[in-house]
Amino acid sequence: MQDIAENLARVEERIEMAARRAGRNPEEIRLVAVSKTVATERVLQAIQAGVKILGENYVQEAKKKIENVGHNVGWHLIGHLQTNKAKMAVRLFDLIHSVDSFNLANELNRAAEQQGKVLPVLLQISLSGEATKFGASEKEIFRMAEEMSKMPALSGVGLMTMPPYFENPEDSRIYFIKLRKLGERLRQENIPRIVVNELSMGMSNDFEVAIEEGATLVRVGTAIFGPRLSP
Ligand SMILES: *Cc1c(COP(=O)(O)O)cnc(C)c1O
Repeated sequence: MQDIAENLARVEERIEMAARRAGRNPEEIRLVAVSKTVATERVLQAIQAGVKILGENYVQEAKKKIENVGHNVGWHLIGHLQTNKAKMAVRLFDLIHSVDSFNLANELNRAAEQQGKVLPVLLQISLSGEATKFGASEKEIFRMAEEMSKMPALSGVGLMTMPPYFENPEDSRIYFIKLRKLGERLRQENIPRIVVNELSMGMSNDFEVAIEEGATLVRVGTAIFGPRLSP
């Protein structure tokens, strides 16, 4: 059995060391513990051990867990969201990392408006073209940000990306650099209500490289919970 508390301590230590290497304050980096396919009991163990934010991929799976665990921790949606689940996602999550189309943004805005909320979101970018299925292209991002700026119930707080899987984490670096630079360009556009403070990048295999390149949110599953059983 993996010891969640021990794994978590090790991940937190690695986050801190990566931040210091890059001359960054470790407090700028928030750990999202990715709990897809992880049972509620183990999620509770992680919270006991100090996890503050959980990341889930599937709205339906998350719903049960969130109802059981409650909102003393943050819940982030990191997986692809279908527009027909927008309403439920707005109800359940504190931040959505995976806004990848104008249509989805529009549905989220409508749902958030109905629920009297302003929902913080990240725009998910596909920087590798063919290799990842979801995410808007670099070109689309600027147009989407302009559109979102007119959506009063959404606040655009940053960018997210998920590079293809590499054995060697150094191979992810170029994608992380690209996301950071894209964030800088987007910030310079000064689009009203689009702030780009957050860069969600880095997973179990490459979060240290992501931190060196400016990640503010790292999404770490297996390094905390152990290998996932196939869903
Ligand atoms: C599953 C998942 C993660 C976590 O992956 P690990 O390799 O287990 O750390 C992070 N981000 C997204 C979008 C995921 O789907």
